[in-house]
Amino acid sequence: MKQNLFGKNVAELQDVLAPLGLPKFRAKQIAQWMYEKGATSFDEMTNLSKDLRARLSDAFEIFLATPKDILQSKDGKTSKYLLAFADGTAVESVLMRQPYGNSICISTQAGCAMGCAFCASTLHGRARDLTAGEMLAEVVFIDQLLRKEGQKVDTMVLMGSGEPLMNYDNVLAFLHLVHDEAVFGMSYRSITLSTSGIVPNIYRLADEGIPVSLSISLHAPEDALRSTLMPINRKYPMADVIAAGKAYGDKTKRRVTYEYILIDGVNDSEQHAAELAKLLHGQLASVNLIPINPVVERHLLRPSQARIDAFEKALADRHIAVTVRREMGTDINAACGQLRNRHLDSNKDEEK
Ligand code: SF4
Repeated sequence: MKQNLFGKNVAELQDVLAPLGLPKFRAKQIAQWMYEKGATSFDEMTNLSKDLRARLSDAFEIFLATPKDILQSKDGKTSKYLLAFADGTAVESVLMRQPYGNSICISTQAGCAMGCAFCASTLHGRARDLTAGEMLAEVVFIDQLLRKEGQKVDTMVLMGSGEPLMNYDNVLAFLHLVHDEAVFGMSYRSITLSTSGIVPNIYRLADEGIPVSLSISLHAPEDALRSTLMPINRKYPMADVIAAGKAYGDKTKRRVTYEYILIDGVNDSEQHAAELAKLLHGQLASVNLIPINPVVERHLLRPSQARIDAFEKALADRHIAVTVRREMGTDINAACGQLRNRHLDSNKDEEK
């Protein structure tokens, strides 16, 4: 099997190409072709000799991912891609054309082991961790599509399937890779990492010296309810999660966002809002309310607009910075994991 060069930085390319006896600048040229010019074959690399291109083609390949399915929302603002890697493992990546630029949501694991009650990504468990190169492939795949329209990826959230802090080393390598000027050059401040609250790794990330924004999924203002929605709460209880979030904000000077999915009759009362406000009082933090995209498999429903408005007002009245996530792509099953599940289920049907 040919070795894939995509996802390697210049130093790694130099190491991999060393057995061919190439001067070091060749690695930089190849990186430019792959990352700046979007080359996916060595034949496109016209400043390399024909002989070298043939030698490279014999030993290596440049493979990002194969699109297995693409869904476009009716308003044209959201596109969801099911991308398959070399071993056939597929993940979802989403492009959202926001008023402030093009934002993408990428997956960090295929499936997820965290078991959150409201999430379709976890229904089939975790298949495997993604490598740094595979995460980069999600970014570059969408960026190449945007480039054809004279646009680019502007911001990124690590909020697709998977718990990024349970795939820590690969995610950290990816953050360095996507930030690398010779690769993609994305500013850390354009990146948000979303976690269900893996406390030790929140502290670890705070010490890495990379100012990515942190978003913590809270979804309930007290432990018993949070444990029913997010089993990880039994291991890392809410007080520890919030203390880690505060430490992250203090260390990085980045405002921490607490994500709160609103589920009808479960966590959306004014009492819940008052408890949430008390928890976050005095922190450099904001709350992002997310009316749930119904997950049919779990019978969880979206609250009425009146209940959403009342929850938002109850927080704002208590001086908590609050936003309500704009709805995007509900007509294409925007809840993470739903497209991949459909793909897995249809594969199962085909096997029957
Ligand atoms: S919400 Fe995130 S952490 Fe929870 S199961 Fe889904 S992908 Fe995993």
